[in-house]
Amino acid sequence: MTQSRFSALRLAAVIAAALVGCTLPSSAAQVSSVNWKQQEAEILRHYRALVQIDTSSPPGNETAAVDYLKRTLEAEGIAVKTFALDAKRANMVARIKGNGAKRPLLLMAHTDVVGVQREKWPVDPFGAVAKDGYIWGRGTRDDKDNVAANLMVMLLLKRSGLALDRDVIFLAESGEEADPSGVGIPFMVGRHFEEIDAEFALAEGGSATLEDGKLTQVAIQTTEKVPRRFRLVATGTSGHGSVPRIDNPLTHLSAAVAKLGAWETPMRLNETTRAYFGKLAGIAAPKSAARYRQLLSAQPPGALQRYFAESEPQHYSMLRTSIVPTILKAGVGPNVIPSQAEATFDVRALPDEDIPRLFAEVTRRIGDPAVKVEPITTNLRPVSPSSKLDSEMYRVLETVAAEMYPGATVLPTMATGATDMAQLRAKGIQSYGIGPASTESDSINYGAHSDVERLLESSLYRFVEFTWRATVAVAAKK
Ligand SMILES: [Zn+2]
Repeated sequence: MTQSRFSALRLAAVIAAALVGCTLPSSAAQVSSVNWKQQEAEILRHYRALVQIDTSSPPGNETAAVDYLKRTLEAEGIAVKTFALDAKRANMVARIKGNGAKRPLLLMAHTDVVGVQREKWPVDPFGAVAKDGYIWGRGTRDDKDNVAANLMVMLLLKRSGLALDRDVIFLAESGEEADPSGVGIPFMVGRHFEEIDAEFALAEGGSATLEDGKLTQVAIQTTEKVPRRFRLVATGTSGHGSVPRIDNPLTHLSAAVAKLGAWETPMRLNETTRAYFGKLAGIAAPKSAARYRQLLSAQPPGALQRYFAESEPQHYSMLRTSIVPTILKAGVGPNVIPSQAEATFDVRALPDEDIPRLFAEVTRRIGDPAVKVEPITTNLRPVSPSSKLDSEMYRVLETVAAEMYPGATVLPTMATGATDMAQLRAKGIQSYGIGPASTESDSINYGAHSDVERLLESSLYRFVEFTWRATVAVAAKK
């Protein structure tokens, strides 16, 4: 931000404070004094600079992004600490102190992004190209939007001089996308938890929906499925392809994969998904609404599951623990019976799933001693309780959504994927995923991890304002 704009903001703050008859340091009433039109250039500058730093992981090199954040924050007098298990993959923590009346708010975002296949991209994936009202590039939706929003909130908090009832902490973490050696959230939670301990956290994982230019839904992620993996290993006698054998491991493995593929795991709702489908029924077209209501009934009909499996697979996954085969490995030659065949399964368990019992049930259903179930136990995200829908933070998010987007529906969601909020929730931090708005078509066709990742520039600005308002509402002195 230039000096003249900085002065203009301070002046506006002083005038606003005078108008509401209070003295600096100012109150939450001053939120309205942020001139968002004037902030756009600075928001865009930081966002583009962050996208332009290639932090694809592995290897990550998140320290380059941390250096940018550190420089920017320290230039305005905000103290910054860095924590690195690997010097190239640093994490950063900045804190603005409150009076300690309440426990801190943590703003978390990851600085790494997934890799790119450059030749598939229509633009330079690290160019942060502005085109057709969008900013294009790897990380524009995952998660440099949240990094930029958190950075701006810290800068604006510091400039405003707003008195706070709780500390506001910004954690820019490494290794969310790929972290084989635990340099990111496992390191911060395991070794430096006192630096990030908080009552509430805001992070990635939420979204908002635009329809005909109007923001109609705000999705707040309150819980997520628990990723687990296992391998099926079938063993038999190797031999010549001309002599059939009843212990051929391919035959046994195929039968086991088919059995698990045909198994419809039981449907189960929790507080979040119950509220989600209930609210969705309130805004969906009549036929869809009827189906969502049926899900909430005591005995949903079996045909309903078929419908969701075929037509709404995302919702189908939200209803149950899913068990999906993803890799098959078998065979060395067309005339050779191998002694072993393997299949890998991706399990996405409901948050309350009893994992050992689930694996025992998998073994029982396969019912074949030639096929062993081997859990894959590396880099497990912890099982964590859902964040509450009646907390101060959740209510604030609802209020801010109502103020900024009158008439929009706020939906609590359970992600079928996973985020680093799992580690925070496991430590008792009530964590909520928020995100910028896009059309349904953009979410499907231009989403995170795609070769055409992009974000509407206007959505970026509104998302920064949303994060700011939520932060001020939960943290400012009452
Ligand atoms: Zn992400």
